[in-house]
Amino acid sequence: MLKGEPIKFETRLVNRLNEEYFLELNIMPILDNTLLDRIFIYAKDITDSKKLEESRRKIKELEEYENIRSEFFANISHEFRTPLNIILGSIQLLELYLKKNKIIDDNDTLYKYNKSIKQNCFRLLRLVNNLIDITKVNAGYMQLNLCVCNIVSLIEDIVQSVADYINSKNIEIIFDTDIEEKYIKCDKDKIERIILNLLSNAIKFTPENGKIIVNIRDLEEYTCISVKDTGIGIPLDKQDIIFERFSQVNKSLSREREGSGLGLNIVKSFIEMHGGEIKLISEEGKGSEFIILLPNNLDKEVNCEIGTISNFNNVERISIEFSDIYF
Ligand code: ADP
Repeated sequence: MLKGEPIKFETRLVNRLNEEYFLELNIMPILDNTLLDRIFIYAKDITDSKKLEESRRKIKELEEYENIRSEFFANISHEFRTPLNIILGSIQLLELYLKKNKIIDDNDTLYKYNKSIKQNCFRLLRLVNNLIDITKVNAGYMQLNLCVCNIVSLIEDIVQSVADYINSKNIEIIFDTDIEEKYIKCDKDKIERIILNLLSNAIKFTPENGKIIVNIRDLEEYTCISVKDTGIGIPLDKQDIIFERFSQVNKSLSREREGSGLGLNIVKSFIEMHGGEIKLISEEGKGSEFIILLPNNLDKEVNCEIGTISNFNNVERISIEFSDIYF
């Protein structure tokens, strides 16, 4: 007599009252030499342990959710409080100047505080915009306003519009393309947000005398847009995390380089909504390259409308996206 290896599996049963039961079935073949002699089946009611396991899993999930929620509120409160404190501080100082009637003789001070109030209002606006966008994307309400556009000139225009800002930080910006024009169906506003966000990060994390290179190439199925910098780079073990929400890679740097860590999560969502993807190549101390692949979808049936006109002019858009950077 030989016993074969027992086969074990679990099965779920539902009775007429819709009550669940779980059984563990053990099937063991008994062999007579090489021939099957008998099959031994042993069933065990594991309903209680299954339900206990399930409730433990739910408690763990709830705890994890609660941790993420608390972290979210702690982060978001900090991100709101910092610019609000700066705005309040500037207003209080202006009030003091006004009381002493000094303001008229001191235009530089007035300009300084006005600039600080404006920049921090833009920071708040960026934060609120990003939060609204993340909520919309998660709820599935975010929609693309697709229109046929020349992606090469769109990217070139964006780069040109921020070239002076970048140069004023003593960073060189280069736009490079191997194609004159390329028409694809895309949402112009979202593409602008994506590129401005990548450029704003590149500026934030590239020291003086560094370089930012924006490149476009036409691959067979995709248009490839790359934003490369010679900045501080991103550690290998953090390269996936940065696309998650609230992912400041180095918290100790965040005081020096402000930001909520929402930007790249939105960038990734916007690219994926276009059917594209984003990749990162980075080496600590050498720099980072963000590579976007957007599908060449002109021949495909894509619902295409005229892009909506945004409420903001270009200067305001740039001020919002670049509000974490001090010029
Ligand atoms: P935020 O919305 O605060 O700008 P992001 O989601 O855009 O945040 O970026 C998250 C983190 O990824 C940054 O805080 C930074 O640590 C890292 N990061 C993003 N881009 C770069 C870059 N070009 N060079 C180095 N680090 C970067």
